[in-house]
Amino acid sequence: MIVGAGHGGAQAAGALRLAKFEGSIALLGDEVELPYERPPLSKDYLSGAKPFERLLIHPDTFWSDRDISILSGRRVIAVDPVSHQVRCEDGGEIEYGHLVWAAGGSPRTMACSGHDLVGVHTVRTRADADRIRAELGTTSRVVVIGGGYIGLEAAAVLAQSGKAVTVLEAQNRVLARVAGEPLSRFYEREHQAHGVEIRLGVTVECIEECNSRVSGVRLSDGEVLACDMVIVGIGIVPAVEPLLSAGAEGTGGVEVDGQCRTSLPDVFAIGDCASHLNRYAGETLVRLESVQNAHDQATVVAKVLTGNEANYDVVPWFWSNQYDLRLQTVGLSTGYDETVVRGDPGTRRFSIVYLRKGQVIALDCVNATRDYVQGKRLVTDGLSVNPALLADTTVALKTLR
Ligand code: FAD
Repeated sequence: MIVGAGHGGAQAAGALRLAKFEGSIALLGDEVELPYERPPLSKDYLSGAKPFERLLIHPDTFWSDRDISILSGRRVIAVDPVSHQVRCEDGGEIEYGHLVWAAGGSPRTMACSGHDLVGVHTVRTRADADRIRAELGTTSRVVVIGGGYIGLEAAAVLAQSGKAVTVLEAQNRVLARVAGEPLSRFYEREHQAHGVEIRLGVTVECIEECNSRVSGVRLSDGEVLACDMVIVGIGIVPAVEPLLSAGAEGTGGVEVDGQCRTSLPDVFAIGDCASHLNRYAGETLVRLESVQNAHDQATVVAKVLTGNEANYDVVPWFWSNQYDLRLQTVGLSTGYDETVVRGDPGTRRFSIVYLRKGQVIALDCVNATRDYVQGKRLVTDGLSVNPALLADTTVALKTLR
């Protein structure tokens, strides 16, 4: 039984059959759609450039051909690790042999008054994106709360569709949690060049209402930003409550070992909800929110469940599309003590190399796929490279060792 029919769940089911798993597979999820890709929800699905059919991870025949039962629209609310059963919100109880928990997370909401007004949105599901799109015709001013990737991607789409967009960020730069200052400043300038107002170091007091709809966002200094839509992009809360209530170890996410096993017997966890020791994070516990992580952990579980050796040890990678900028990231920059800018951000094609104690730990590559591809090895091998060579664009990264 796989709970959560998103990126991790879909991959786990497919990989199990590929590895010749002969038991029954149920892929149970609380959304009504067949498994679909989430990244386009803040990119080309939000803009209308990509129809939903192109988001499907596999066509419907994929599942029936492989005898994978999809149980849609069902939410698990409890896990009994002794009787090996899950209980659904609809009262149904289902037995499992092994349980793979791939439930992702739900978007964090604002704690202030007005957080639940009509016109206040998060972006996690197709339904969320559809609600935003349905209101666009009557929306002219949007406030995005949170200058992380999802907020910035949504801001880019909305600015390009002619909306007046303001991004509010509590920290003193956008992307502060995930990237170095040069990248933050670059994206701030790009958004400003596209007409987006970026407000840094601001906190929201409340969301204001007029006729039961959002009418503005009040900042803690009393200023009110009038708007007819708010998009909240302030992270997720991992969906692990049923596992933690059943006694699984974990705070924030559920802890898993190198084979993605939780501390509960026969229960695995993968993807956004699973925290694991990662050597690219200096062997600390991390919870990664990326398609790569969900996909590769799913593959590990499929191998383990079919009696094969597997250990999760993959270099993290990530991407973000904003305007005509393609950012590709490899490694985890957390804990860097030096950054090297490779190329001129003014050309909109450059990379930032992150080092810790002289070793390359991550790269952010903007419109610079060659650096991304060639730089990956520097990260996986933890190479120490002279910063002057990293900065020299006439020196190909593949030649550095
Ligand atoms: P999910 O894909 O979220 O799947 C979890 C599923 O479980 C969901 O369908 C959920 O509704 C369901 N569920 C939750 N609780 C229960 C329950 N109790 N019972 C039943 N079902 C349940 N990553 C990138 O690498 N690059 C990107 O550019 C990128 N862009 C993104 C843009 C957006 C708007 C979002 C939301 C995410 C983006 N991500 C991106 C992150 C990426 O989509 C996630 O890391 C990935 O989806 C994680 O997969 P998962 O299987 O862990 O969770």
